[in-house]
Amino acid sequence: LPIDWSLEGTARRRDTYYAASQKKFVPFAEPMIFRRGSMQYLWDEAGRKYVDLLGMNVCVSVGHSHPVVVKAAAEQAAELTHCTTMFYHPVPAHLAEELAATMPKGPKGDIEWVVHFTNSGSEAIDLAMVMARGYTGNLDLLALRNGYHGPTSAAQSVTGIAAFRHPGMPGNVAFVAEPNQYRGVFGPGTQPYLDEIERTIAVATTGRIAGMLVESVQGYGGIIEMPPGYMSGAAERVRAAGGLYIADEVQSGFGRTGDHMWGFEADGVIPDIVVMAKGIGNGFPLGAVVAQRQIAQPMAEKFMFHTYGANPTSCAAGRAVLQVLREERLQQNAKTVGGALLERLNDLRQRHPAIGDVRGRGLMLAIEMVRDRNSKEPDPETTAAVFEQCRESGLILSKSGPTRSTLRMVPPLCLSLADVDQVSEGLDRAFTKAR
Ligand code: PMP
Repeated sequence: LPIDWSLEGTARRRDTYYAASQKKFVPFAEPMIFRRGSMQYLWDEAGRKYVDLLGMNVCVSVGHSHPVVVKAAAEQAAELTHCTTMFYHPVPAHLAEELAATMPKGPKGDIEWVVHFTNSGSEAIDLAMVMARGYTGNLDLLALRNGYHGPTSAAQSVTGIAAFRHPGMPGNVAFVAEPNQYRGVFGPGTQPYLDEIERTIAVATTGRIAGMLVESVQGYGGIIEMPPGYMSGAAERVRAAGGLYIADEVQSGFGRTGDHMWGFEADGVIPDIVVMAKGIGNGFPLGAVVAQRQIAQPMAEKFMFHTYGANPTSCAAGRAVLQVLREERLQQNAKTVGGALLERLNDLRQRHPAIGDVRGRGLMLAIEMVRDRNSKEPDPETTAAVFEQCRESGLILSKSGPTRSTLRMVPPLCLSLADVDQVSEGLDRAFTKAR
């Protein structure tokens, strides 16, 4: 069938046929069409090249249209595109084994992990919530303010950013202040935020909870890292109240933080449930709940069937992603290249007073803009201006955080040191022009 690639035609069809809910999320002043991608680069419909610092929203972990992933998915799709879990298929079974092998075994080496595949991150979050409530017999959940867990009504109910919360969500969720080291309500440090968990359990729940959801690094919230001791301290307090510690690794997983495969490993905590998506499929729809065996067990009493969950095409892509991560040493690359980029962002902070904070690790980095470094008043206007200028310089980023004053960088993990030069020069020019 013919495709009309024009911006005008696409805009008209979107305006006419997309629901309001799907039209809203267009970040740039002028819309864009990307026609082609290869590794960390994108080309628009006019053939102009961009460095993708957004990784198509963290999904593209090992590179756009990575040939190994494309080949694996194409071969599987040609042989048997779809097969539900009603029938046995070795490809998802292999992927489950490979994912389980990436999880910590615990001090005694006896922790066993099991996998339930879904189609998306929010479905996996939803399933993790059902699992935690079922296993513990408790209803109340804790979640972090400034956290994002997805668009389904269950995932919205644990999302702590007002802009993503629509009316009519289910309840039984208490929110805890996020341990933001730059502008958190209790200032820098870990202990006050752990005390806040205890206080919240005492005053806003029945005292017995199903669990707590924590993004190991908050993504849409503007790259907020958990300070040392926070994740392990949170898990301790949650378990003391009968609950489970649920790590959301949808953005921070698959080597992105550079030091570890999973963001939670930075703190040595062993979660009860790990939720993953996005980077697992390099753009193919795939999510998973990876849980300690005994926690998933009570769900055997009822059916839980995701039609496309564990589909062999997405799972073939998932296996190829793990292979490429290993063969191309992309976690190490995230550490090296991310470290170099962070250094350059810190240099920019010296020169541009609009930059209040620079943070992150590996290839999960952010610049937060303020009107004044003392008052730390957020500056969404300068952020938007820099963002548009970056596009002019061929850089695609994202505006994040509750006031959209943070530029978030989560590129494909194959970003190179040469790209770092281009990115820092482009940002420097953008800040100079936007002033
Ligand atoms: N958790 C986090 C941390 C996310 O960033 C997202 C998606 N942005 C989700 C969950 C939901 O994933 P999905 O969009 O695949 O439903």
